[in-house]
Amino acid sequence: MRRKRLPPGQKGADARGITSCAATGQVMSVLLWLKPGERTFARGGIHPAEHKELTATCAIESFVPSSVTVPVSQSLGPAAKPLVEKKDLVKRGDVIAEAPDGLRIHAPISGIVKNVQREPHPVLVHDTAITILAKPTDDEPEFPEQPGWMELSREVMLEKIKHGGLVGLGGAAFPTYRKLTLPPDAKIDTLLINGSECEPYLTCDYRLMLEDAEKVVLGAWTIARMIGVNRCLIGVEDNKQPAVEALRAAIERLGIESLPFPVAMEVVLTETKYPQGAERQLIEALTGRVVPRRGLPLQVGIVVQNVATAYACLEAIRNDKPVIDRVVTVSGLGIAQPKNLRVPIGTSIAALLEHCGGFNGEVVKVLAGGPMMGRALADLNVPVVKGTSGLLFLTRSETNLDRYGACIGCGECLDVCPLGLEPNKVSQYVEWGRPLETEVYGVLDCFECGCCSYVCPSNRPLVQFMQVAKTAYRNQARSRQ
Ligand code: SF4
Ligand code: SF4
Repeated sequence: MRRKRLPPGQKGADARGITSCAATGQVMSVLLWLKPGERTFARGGIHPAEHKELTATCAIESFVPSSVTVPVSQSLGPAAKPLVEKKDLVKRGDVIAEAPDGLRIHAPISGIVKNVQREPHPVLVHDTAITILAKPTDDEPEFPEQPGWMELSREVMLEKIKHGGLVGLGGAAFPTYRKLTLPPDAKIDTLLINGSECEPYLTCDYRLMLEDAEKVVLGAWTIARMIGVNRCLIGVEDNKQPAVEALRAAIERLGIESLPFPVAMEVVLTETKYPQGAERQLIEALTGRVVPRRGLPLQVGIVVQNVATAYACLEAIRNDKPVIDRVVTVSGLGIAQPKNLRVPIGTSIAALLEHCGGFNGEVVKVLAGGPMMGRALADLNVPVVKGTSGLLFLTRSETNLDRYGACIGCGECLDVCPLGLEPNKVSQYVEWGRPLETEVYGVLDCFECGCCSYVCPSNRPLVQFMQVAKTAYRNQARSRQ
């Protein structure tokens, strides 16, 4: 993404000094001074051009292609094993693959299995995938509300989440049942629902909150019930005011605080600042608690889930509907008709491009995900997977293809790193062929948010340097095993 100079006061750590660890009353009292929309994380961050206006007013439309190709690897963890063969007939929602841990993959459309073979994959380059040609039946599954769903035990709810194939739909694709299976000694007091959507261009979560606020809120309730907490904060950046109002109205209408399992649910506005949607940054912004380096949110009493995942949890528990579709933002100046589309998993990018009117001008980059953390695609015949939040068709004016230069020691990357790492040093050691000397500069903590690359005046691909160093450490660990 093309770099923009930060306005004064937006670079570097802010001066509030919320840096102490854990949920102390002292930190919370600092947060209480803050006005709505002033909450944010203390260190670093940037405010890139948002570009959300391209799709913010686009209501979610449905699109069903004539075929889907469903990869068996769509989550962090072991790949699923195909359970169908060529020429099998499947119905929407049928199990078509299952991983050794029980995480399932389902048919996104009804039809006939055309192939089970290796196909292009947006993350893994290639993967085994099941191609289904659409052939709707007379009795298409409708997934109606199941009676008594609110009284289901936590164990049954968790089982439905696992068998429904739920993974983090914000992009992480971490299996949801694993995140919600807490160790017996965990002391969780708060559920955070992540409605930040801090990546530029993306509006799929915004539209979901706006159009289906009740389902997001009820989904959050199911998660709170599963993990047994009575407090839930929904964090939304202050550039999404209509979604905030929709969520607040839904909480009131549904009377979440007076359900059989009451939950005190609050929508909290945060400052619009990237990467507010990263777990540890959101936790700090909303509660003042700081997750230890390489630690987990549950160490500070918190579980975080994305809004689309909360929505999918409700569908799995209330309607027995597995993850067979998702909302994807198709945007960028290089697409003729930017849209928010609910599409079956396995829909090809090429089919989406055609449905959105084709290219608009010279497209120099296609990304799966947002411009900060998304992946460049080399092949448009890759499918939408569960973790695909956006597809961006970017023109030359939206990307930076300039060659990079030497580090000039300006320190801007140090100012914006939310973790206080030293990407400049890592990049230099990698260039010198000494990637295994970078741990001291924090390379193993880097979560590849891209803030450092964005601000570097020498256009240095700092995230890629971090990735090279991390790969060197991974290879070293493997060779020692
Ligand atoms: S990509 Fe890594 S080093 Fe760069 S700002 Fe983000 S966390 Fe820091
Ligand atoms: S890597 Fe880039 S941003 Fe960081 S100090 Fe060097 S020139 Fe400045």
